Amino acid sequence: MQKRRYLEQSIKETFEKFGYKEIQTPTFETLELFTAKSGEGIIDELYSFTDKGGREIALRPELTAPVIRMYVEKLQMEPKPLKLFYFGNCFRYDRPQKGRYREFKQAGCEIIGSDTPEAYAELIAMAYKILKNAGLKNIQLNIGNLNILSSMFKNLKLSEDKQKYLIPLIDKALFEDVYDALTEFKINPKDATNFLEMLQTDDINKIIEYVKSDKSTLEEINKLKEILKILKNSFDVKDYNVKLSIVRGLDYYKGIVFEIEATNLGAEKQLCGGGAYELISLFGGKEFPTAGFAIGFDRSLIALETEKFVFPTQRIDAYVIPINEDTIEKSLEIANELRNNNLKADVDLMRRGVSKAMKYASSLNVKNAIIIGPDEIKNNSATVKDMDTGKQETVKIENLPKHIQG
Ligand code: AMP
Repeated sequence: MQKRRYLEQSIKETFEKFGYKEIQTPTFETLELFTAKSGEGIIDELYSFTDKGGREIALRPELTAPVIRMYVEKLQMEPKPLKLFYFGNCFRYDRPQKGRYREFKQAGCEIIGSDTPEAYAELIAMAYKILKNAGLKNIQLNIGNLNILSSMFKNLKLSEDKQKYLIPLIDKALFEDVYDALTEFKINPKDATNFLEMLQTDDINKIIEYVKSDKSTLEEINKLKEILKILKNSFDVKDYNVKLSIVRGLDYYKGIVFEIEATNLGAEKQLCGGGAYELISLFGGKEFPTAGFAIGFDRSLIALETEKFVFPTQRIDAYVIPINEDTIEKSLEIANELRNNNLKADVDLMRRGVSKAMKYASSLNVKNAIIIGPDEIKNNSATVKDMDTGKQETVKIENLPKHIQG
């Protein structure tokens, strides 16, 4: 929990540095909230049940839909842009493996009300900085755009069904299978090769060349270019890749999408996914631009552990040891006073010998041991041992808090 609390605190601080405010939604929602967003197919991936009142309920698999539901119900009148962040446990009916659980935690956010390039650049930069500020070194940021991908599909005159068949293959980067499927769909080899090249290139000029005949797609690319420029110049985020093969697997995303992966994790290496989407009107509200992302909390922790990140540890400032039964009361009093001075203090509760108590104190990695014997009480003082240096001093009891703080 210390590691988890460290990561949570670090993520929260970065969200707050960007002006985001925390929000919390319930663990369960109506099943309809998620089927409205993702279709009936999502039911197989959910924990859902009928409650005693006959309501169809689902444990949330993610928090974007719940946050937008709450926005529509309670927050529509708030000034824009509205910047909300959250931590929440999520549930997916999945086959568990390392980094993939049935219950896991997400840290995420939504920005409602702005679709300027600077809003998207800020969102992407924040996701990247959250992971960097937490201490991760080996992460890769990939940025794509679903409108560009759709227009590439349109160029090939692929039906919706065919697109639906290709999307999971593109998502899994199974490019040979994509090529085979395109051949089967009677796309000529040159067009298929070009299409695959666009999916894999990170050269935006090549992409512009490919779609330049389509004016609205060209506009979309110019917007993407602008976002990348702001990321680089204003947010100092330079090490990104353009990757048109990001599909995010969800139908409601529109336009910009991005993912961040941990380069030294195996199969489950995706730490963050996000982008622009439209959901408000689906839930009965007045549509505004919306975008957001979700970071896999547990996976980010695994990534930190894999990088051998040294998590900050909380140390107890002082361990008070009464030498005998006569000094127990004074020892408890001293520990109480230290706590009143905002110090972390523990006291021996086992009525054991000093050497055993010291051994326990050192196993707890305490900073100081405070030994209280009859002589010490007589002189109104304590023996303080610095457990790191081994140095021992006599300190007046009234000076103990200052001494330990110092
Ligand atoms: P998604 O909502 O699917 O885009 O997921 C966002 C992030 O949550 C992913 O990038 C993962 O890091 C994390 N995640 C998704 N599913 C799971 C899972 N079953 N177990 C652990 N983490 C997950």
